[in-house]
Amino acid sequence: MDNTGIKKGSSPKILVVEDNQDNREMVVKALKFNGYQVVEAVDGEEAIEKVKAEHPDLILLDIFLPKMDGYEATRRLKGDTSLRNIPIIALTAHAMKGSMEEALAVGCDGYISKPIDVRELPKHIQRFLKPRP
Ligand code: MN
Repeated sequence: MDNTGIKKGSSPKILVVEDNQDNREMVVKALKFNGYQVVEAVDGEEAIEKVKAEHPDLILLDIFLPKMDGYEATRRLKGDTSLRNIPIIALTAHAMKGSMEEALAVGCDGYISKPIDVRELPKHIQRFLKPRP
């Protein structure tokens, strides 16, 4: 048990990739409140590293990131046979026309438009989580 009272390994692990600290903290807080395990990354390169090290059950991936953007990170993750089964939900900026289409085109499994409604977030995540063996 960790200090949230959740038995380790019993709840899905979500990787949150977001360079904006306020957005990241908001999403992380909402996920923890809903009982998820959370891992964080602040740029595309760190995202790839954390996926390999932490084996998350799902990735919430901001598109506009330092070092490597979310499109390129998705291409790399979906191009790796050992990682491509992890669902990726892109966090797309509402104002950026075409970013959802582009996210799906490069292999994201879905997207959520910003601003993120944290009350709806667990519902979105549940839709994309794969049943565990
Ligand atoms: Mn960003």
